[in-house]
Amino acid sequence: MSKQMSPSIASQEYAISYAELMDLSPHRALLRFHQRHDQRIKQATAGSIQSKACFEGCAYCCHFKVIADAVEIVAMADFVEANFDSQQIDQIIQSAKHNIEESRNLSHEEHSTINQKCPLLIDNSCAVYPVRSIKCRNFHATDASGCRASYDNPKDLTILNENIPEVYIAATGSGDGFLTALHNHGYDDRSYDHNTAFVEALENPYCRIRYDAGRRAFTTAKYDNY
Ligand code: SF4
Repeated sequence: MSKQMSPSIASQEYAISYAELMDLSPHRALLRFHQRHDQRIKQATAGSIQSKACFEGCAYCCHFKVIADAVEIVAMADFVEANFDSQQIDQIIQSAKHNIEESRNLSHEEHSTINQKCPLLIDNSCAVYPVRSIKCRNFHATDASGCRASYDNPKDLTILNENIPEVYIAATGSGDGFLTALHNHGYDDRSYDHNTAFVEALENPYCRIRYDAGRRAFTTAKYDNY
């Protein structure tokens, strides 16, 4: 396996996902995985003496640099196409294109030092909440002042986010188990930049065909540590 995994949860999730992917499409396997993943996060949160400071309408983290795996971009794009009208989809595309233009000449690290509103954040709420990515599902804080400080000082990459260790370990292991199963089934396991991948997914239907065929899903989107 390519990644260091939290052993028990990751191995357990890997076995389940690998078996499911023998019969299910990656999209359907992802939706099933989401249920197990959310349950693990819920259990780990309930078992901790610490609590999350996150609340509805707090969206500092949705202004930080966001990436997602290919299967997740496809699922979020499908969700947008199924639940939004053409005018709303165009607004999402325009918002992503604004971000792309703003960061066109920035390196990966420089891109992390500016605030950019995720194109899927609408009225301070996530437009794809049921299918949001693993990274978005996992992100949490025990003190929102750290998130605000990062937002207020985007160039300061030393500001740390305080999280709940039990939740972090469970969520990371669970996500790694699923993504490793996808990888070992031969599906594109690149992490893509939200903005460039979203524009491509919403404008080019062949991304899904390429993904399902085990090829690189997005040919113009930025990926990994571009
Ligand atoms: S996908 Fe949703 S949760 Fe993730 S950064 Fe965008 S708006 Fe926030």
